[in-house]
Amino acid sequence: MGRRDKVARASVYRTVREAALRLKEAGVPEPAASAEILMAELLDLRRGNLAWREEPMTEEQAATYEAWIQRRLRREPVQRILGYTYFRNLELDIDEHSLIPRPDTESVVSVALTRIDERGGSCRVLDIGTGSGTIAVSIAQERPRCEVHATDISEGALEVARANAKKAGVRVHLHHTDLTAGLDALRGSVEVLVSNPPYITSAEIPGLAPEVRDWDPRSALDGGPDGLEFYRRIFEETPPLLADGAGVVLEIGHDQSRSVLELGRSRGFVPRGTAPDLTGTPRVALLKWTGG
Ligand code: GLN
Repeated sequence: MGRRDKVARASVYRTVREAALRLKEAGVPEPAASAEILMAELLDLRRGNLAWREEPMTEEQAATYEAWIQRRLRREPVQRILGYTYFRNLELDIDEHSLIPRPDTESVVSVALTRIDERGGSCRVLDIGTGSGTIAVSIAQERPRCEVHATDISEGALEVARANAKKAGVRVHLHHTDLTAGLDALRGSVEVLVSNPPYITSAEIPGLAPEVRDWDPRSALDGGPDGLEFYRRIFEETPPLLADGAGVVLEIGHDQSRSVLELGRSRGFVPRGTAPDLTGTPRVALLKWTGG
């Protein structure tokens, strides 16, 4: 009996268990969760209901599941295999052109919304390096009276962002450019600037988990020799676009709050403090532009 026949006849639950074991033996992180989430997706079931499934899988289901498990064995993240992930209210599509949206970035959106609300809930927002549209689409969805602009250097990422804006039923003005080059039409008018730029030091990248190192685009991770390259450029290049009193909301690495706030201060921004993630680590830097 070929391996394929064996797999085709196994029950749903046994197939999940065997896959979890193979993932575990291969050293893949969260083997059970990976095996269960993929099966739940395949059969359109809740993860918690799989244990009761004694029915055999069809040959087609078994083949698809096996292909997904093979991808996970190569350390492809579950979200990339699924092609989407959840972020705040949204189900965002993802592909190879952009970073997987992270829960950490949800607090960046929260801080930006507070700044927007201080301005009465309607203002012009700019998200730099939007990737799959994570921040920009969330803001447009949660504060529909804002005019949201977003940039990315990757045309592929912008295509995903465009699809995500459409799926969420919101309008985001997408600009294909390096940071903010050529956005002269926005001169002096951006009231909330937000970004989750690449901030990992180049030297740290080889040591990252394979799920990140081998699958997130390097250009979405690499913040240069000291990890601060994009903050430096944001502080240098954005002032012409900013309105007097604009709020600047930046995601930062766990050990970057002092250096990012200091960098901003040295370029004429006023540091306003940091906001923590769920575990209390400062992961958002907040500054204000007062017109230099
Ligand atoms: N802004 C996008 C996100 O938060 C992409 C960030 C990035 O690629 N560094 O997911």
